[in-house]
Amino acid sequence: MDQTQTPRAAGVSIVGLHKHYGQNHVLKGIDLTVEPGQVVCLIGPSGSGKSTLLRCVNLLETPTEGTIHVGGFEATDPDVDLDAMRRRVGMVFQHFNLFPHLSVLENCTVSPIKVLKRSKAEAEKTARGHLERVGLGDLADRYPAQLSGGQQQRVAIARALSMEPELMLFDEPTSALDPETVGDVLAIMRRLANDGMTMLVVTHEMGFAREVADEVVFMDKGVVVERGPSAEVIGNPQHQRTQDFLARVL
Ligand code: ADP
Ligand code: MG
Repeated sequence: MDQTQTPRAAGVSIVGLHKHYGQNHVLKGIDLTVEPGQVVCLIGPSGSGKSTLLRCVNLLETPTEGTIHVGGFEATDPDVDLDAMRRRVGMVFQHFNLFPHLSVLENCTVSPIKVLKRSKAEAEKTARGHLERVGLGDLADRYPAQLSGGQQQRVAIARALSMEPELMLFDEPTSALDPETVGDVLAIMRRLANDGMTMLVVTHEMGFAREVADEVVFMDKGVVVERGPSAEVIGNPQHQRTQDFLARVL
């Protein structure tokens, strides 16, 4: 198998997830399943808890209550190996979060070398493959500040893929980009989806959600209001809150 292909895809199962920040009850009993290889887009107003939900899935936040399984492993087991668990899950943020002092190639090799114990040569070969895959093979020696926002986000995707994740989380990956670079990033995400990666994507790109997502989940005020096939939720929403939200973003 081509090394840069998705090695395996894990499903996600979230049951009864609650998250409090002090008195602020942010997630109020979320149930959500993503089948292996499925793409689910999470939509909803600002402050509805979408980022918190993603951050719970890769354990950047500790859930107050509920269980999360990733690929059959319980992420919320108190005895879980956090590093092993986080390794399975790739995350791409709105603001790229690249290491500014490392080259594009080094951004993609530092964790495979440190965490996966790959040799430098092996890590570089894999990283170059992923950089080719996102169309940046010839920019491997640049530094993040020398790239456009869209290119930086593509590096962030290549960096996440270099850790051979079984699941990719995207938190508004195109929201900070100039309009002309949004399409490049969405095209790469689309290809990743076609290659069979399991993806949970927070996005306001309704065109992407409609075309690429198997399912769309609409969240508001910490609850899942509506979910279903993307064409149905976006094209024919059943709940007033979903209708109001879509009327604002479409
Ligand atoms: P969304 O991504 O849908 O905009 P968030 O998950 O970022 O929503 O935020 C949901 C709520 O949780 C908001 O009220 C926000 O202020 C609060 N919140 C998010 N992160 C933290 C944090 N680290 N500490 C305290 N409150 C937070
Ligand atoms: Mg958010």
